[in-house]
Amino acid sequence: MKIITRFAPSPTGYLHIGSVRTALYSWLYARHNNGKFIFRIEDTDIERSTPEAIEAIIDSMRWLNLNWDEGPYYQTKRFERYNVVIDDMLKMGTAYKCYCSKERLKQLRENQIAKGEKPRYDGNCRNQNQHSNSYAESYVVRFRNPQEGLIIFNDQIRGPIKFDNKELDDLIIRRSDGVPTYNFCVVVDDWDMGITHVIRGEDHINNTPRQINIFKAIGATVPMYAHVSMILDHDGKKLSKRHHAMNIMQYRIDGYLPEALLNYLVRLGWSHGNKEIFSIKEMKILFRIEEVNKSASVFNIEKLRWLNQYYINTLPENYIVKKLQWHMKKLSINTCNGPKLKQVMPLIAKRSKTLVEIANSCRYFYQEIENFDVESAKKYLRPCANRPLQVLYEKFSALSTEKWKAENIHFIINNVVKELEVKISTVGMPLRVAVTGTSYSPELDAVLELIGQHRSLARIKKALQFISMQKD
Ligand code: GLU
Repeated sequence: MKIITRFAPSPTGYLHIGSVRTALYSWLYARHNNGKFIFRIEDTDIERSTPEAIEAIIDSMRWLNLNWDEGPYYQTKRFERYNVVIDDMLKMGTAYKCYCSKERLKQLRENQIAKGEKPRYDGNCRNQNQHSNSYAESYVVRFRNPQEGLIIFNDQIRGPIKFDNKELDDLIIRRSDGVPTYNFCVVVDDWDMGITHVIRGEDHINNTPRQINIFKAIGATVPMYAHVSMILDHDGKKLSKRHHAMNIMQYRIDGYLPEALLNYLVRLGWSHGNKEIFSIKEMKILFRIEEVNKSASVFNIEKLRWLNQYYINTLPENYIVKKLQWHMKKLSINTCNGPKLKQVMPLIAKRSKTLVEIANSCRYFYQEIENFDVESAKKYLRPCANRPLQVLYEKFSALSTEKWKAENIHFIINNVVKELEVKISTVGMPLRVAVTGTSYSPELDAVLELIGQHRSLARIKKALQFISMQKD
């Protein structure tokens, strides 16, 4: 049997971290089994679905590289098909027209609540002769749900789950305005698309028995189900805006790599021994939906940051540079205005947890320093730094441009330290603040080489001017 899975988001908002994990699991299951992964947009809720959300969802899937074999399909483009199935069901008697007025249903509901019962449709029109000549009247179509028996399905994550048909009423499958309803469209889609495994959030568990009954009524094979648990924040509450859970693309903006995010998500609720790092290839080989934990998972941003740092430093440099370029542009840092990003990036990457951190730390290679960091200047650009910077300036100026290389720069710095008989930091720190604007940077010799001789000298001069304006 060819495994066919799908990811079927409703475009009523952005893709959040929980949906992405579901998409990933569904995608991995298909890829592991050499199956097919279908992408479907469930936009039947016309009022709440927006084109912006659809675009954002597609962009997110592309950014994450969760490629699909078919789709995106749109439910709103399939109404004709749903109606064909509904008409067949009406003919077969597995669905019926319900003419109950809003008032009647309201009254029924109120009575049931007053009696402490669960509100449900009482089947009033279920056994009435279906008026064939009453198309002028407004009616909905309801599914004739079996009234007896159990629905049992073996959830791939949660084990057997049982529902009693007595708990279910006759679901509306087409509203009076002719629009088929969500639970029904899902079934027809899963049927038509040959879905063998439905992997989705646990919030859909209660829809499953209804959907299974419809599958059976239309003579379709019921797929396997796996309901993935929720992701909670560290207080045990549902993820909130604080964690950017509302939009996965925020992670891109914040400088995370898709590889880190996917690795993080695959491990959130699934494990393989003590292994923490999973390349996409390894995930495809090792992931098993049956091994997913059924308890809720807790989101931990520090772990994601740790993974991101790992991937920044292990994925091919060209790839990281390309991703970094996107952030440089976003921060309006023009990389034509300085050394190649490919040379700068390795100097900074080791200490950085996100691409945004790298981009921000790269600024001084491409932009002039408007102001020295206040604390660093207070500490290191004091009159006592005047002499070391003066001597450095002279020696650096004397170096020919071809010799502006890290090893020669290193040699000069050491010479100045010896000549002035001071500690390395007495020379190094003022120089660092002068050329980078702050007191944190990678090795100075490499930094100076890349900043270039002309620019470095100009910055030292600026620092000397700054010092001369200070009172001791
Ligand atoms: N459209 C549903 C959602 O976004 C998913 C339905 C399903 O996977 O069956 O939650």
